[in-house]
Amino acid sequence: MDDPLVCTWKGWTGRLDGKGNGGSADDDTPFRAVLGWKGLVVWDPEVDPVDLLRAYLEKVRDESCGQCTPCREGTVRLCAIMDRICNGEGRPGDLEEIAAMARFISDAARCDVGLFVAPPTLEMLQRYRGVFEATIREKRVVPRNRYEAAVAAPCMSACPSNVDVPAYVEAIRLNKLAEGLAVVRRDCPMPGTIGRVCVRPCEANCRRALVDAPISIRALKRYLADHEMHTGAAPKLEAAPPREDRVAVVGAGPAGLSCAFYLGQRGYRTTIFEAQEKAGGMASFGIPSYRLPRDVIAYEASLVEQLGAEIRYGVRVGEDISIEELGQQGYRAVFLGVGAPESSKMRCEGEDAGYECFMPGVHFLAEVARGRRPIEGEKLVVVGGGNVAMDCVRSALRIGFKDVNLLYRRTEAEMPADPQEIHEAKEEGVKFHYLVAPVRIVEAGGRVRGLECRRMTLGEPDKSGRRRPVPVEGSEFVIECDAIIPAVGQVCMVDCVLPEAENLTPWKTLVVDQMTFQSQKPTVFGGGDCVTGPSTLIAALAAGKKAAYHIAQYLEEGNVQPTVSEVLKAIVNNSEVLDRNETWPFHDVTERFDPPVMAPEVRKTNFEEVEGCLNQAQATAEAYRCLRCYRIAVAALRAS
Ligand SMILES: Cc1cc2nc3c(=O)[nH]c(=O)nc-3n(C[C@H](O)[C@H](O)[C@H](O)COP(=O)(O)OP(=O)(O)OC[C@H]3O[C@@H](n4cnc5c(N)ncnc54)[C@H](O)[C@@H]3O)c2cc1C
Repeated sequence: MDDPLVCTWKGWTGRLDGKGNGGSADDDTPFRAVLGWKGLVVWDPEVDPVDLLRAYLEKVRDESCGQCTPCREGTVRLCAIMDRICNGEGRPGDLEEIAAMARFISDAARCDVGLFVAPPTLEMLQRYRGVFEATIREKRVVPRNRYEAAVAAPCMSACPSNVDVPAYVEAIRLNKLAEGLAVVRRDCPMPGTIGRVCVRPCEANCRRALVDAPISIRALKRYLADHEMHTGAAPKLEAAPPREDRVAVVGAGPAGLSCAFYLGQRGYRTTIFEAQEKAGGMASFGIPSYRLPRDVIAYEASLVEQLGAEIRYGVRVGEDISIEELGQQGYRAVFLGVGAPESSKMRCEGEDAGYECFMPGVHFLAEVARGRRPIEGEKLVVVGGGNVAMDCVRSALRIGFKDVNLLYRRTEAEMPADPQEIHEAKEEGVKFHYLVAPVRIVEAGGRVRGLECRRMTLGEPDKSGRRRPVPVEGSEFVIECDAIIPAVGQVCMVDCVLPEAENLTPWKTLVVDQMTFQSQKPTVFGGGDCVTGPSTLIAALAAGKKAAYHIAQYLEEGNVQPTVSEVLKAIVNNSEVLDRNETWPFHDVTERFDPPVMAPEVRKTNFEEVEGCLNQAQATAEAYRCLRCYRIAVAALRAS
């Protein structure tokens, strides 16, 4: 991105973000100038500041929800004055009226749409005072440039799929639940799934947390999804008229389902080729049903089918059919969403020996998901510190292990697992052993008898920023046990589907453009874990959605590139949308409503769902806590 001539935007980096939105940071900027809540950036000295401010205020007027009179009426009034000025009919005193009105709107605002009227307006009037005065004096008619606008919010910008959280939370507040769910589905096709097991980057970036606690965003999304499922209300799914072109999707995991959902909405028929017997990928065969009931995934997969997708189960692409053959069968593009299906090695002696009662975590969970007890015994050791390890220990209790132990080579402070998962595992009786790493599997007659371990200490931080575990020499000891489950990570195997080396990284992930999701092969796109390595559901869903857009672009235009809207959104999202040092303008401390959780002694004996749903009163009260932290930016575009 070129260096700007003027830049008053606090925290401006001009960089695209690292959430699958990077990729073309070296390109020339498509913008002449950007004006937004955080300031002004100008590349083209010829850009007209009067027109730029008009565009900003028009966008603010359009985004005003209308519930606060000063914002609703004031922004209309501001736009009327700007129009008058731009039509060559400005009057003396107009600039003073604009400044006073902008201050009044911001002072009276309940949310950030109004709050951020004054700062950019006053900055423009001050910096370009001469131009504004001359425009009025000389009755200059201001031509309209082309603009692109972006709406951000801290929660939205933290979400890989940019779900419009304030909009659906507002819909809950007004009890417009179908509308709220339709807002979620614009960017996330599996609200019931994500409403239960999302890792919640939105909540970690919620501005409410600066004064009390973040909004229960995930629980509110679930509230919407459960309401539709339980009342049997018909989902609002809009779809364009059917098109001729067919697209093949490989993998019915979250990435593949999302891609097929959004292609379906655009009228494309997709065939999803899935190696397993059910849809959902790791949401069905990894995440246990006590966190994510299977009827939720089945329902959400059925909506993808309603949009015209056909799912062919038991077909392993790469073995049963090749990518080339899919092309020969008339599929004009292919989306790969094949995930990260295999367990990483522990680098422990004996792990490849095939001992009885040694089973990698993802295989163990897949077997449990099919209703089986894949390994026997009373005492189990699980190695790992992430969510997969938590799912293994908690599932093991539920299938009858009596003594379940978790080994982690760092301390709890460095554990990547969700703190709620750690807490609930402890409540259920899992024993946690920190600063311990496996060295050798102890066996007798080919069956696991124990695990030799070594104690660790923490050294300097590594690349991840976490302190590196360092072995303590001579500290070896044996934990006797009947079974061992390693859960230390997952690996990708895209080479099984697309063997050509130029399409792969050394980690066997697929190489794609980070904004368009197109691979080196123009007809092949990909997203989700098979591109990023093991990540999250919402990242996979986001990748599927974005890839669907660019697959359609490829089919319709033959040319794939990031849109101006994507570039602006990525840059804006990357510019510290949440100011953690903000001087807090609100003083009302509120209580967060969390969903009810089943008692540990009851839940650990079965696979019933642990977490419940907020009731209407709780959901409405929770929705009232939202501060609607919308922030707006407009960009003047270069002539195309
Ligand atoms: C145990 C566990 C717990 C997790 N918990 C959470 C959580 O709480 N929250 C969260 O956000 N994320 C969680 N994750 C991560 C999340 O599940 C993944 O990031 C997400 O499922 C990735 O989606 P995907 O579509 O890219 O891949 P997957 O979900 O892996 O789906 C890939 C699909 O492709 C199919 N497939 C593979 N190869 C082929 C082939 N050759 N031909 C046809 N089909 C093929 C697979 O059978 C599978 O259905 C968890 C992961 C695991 C393993």
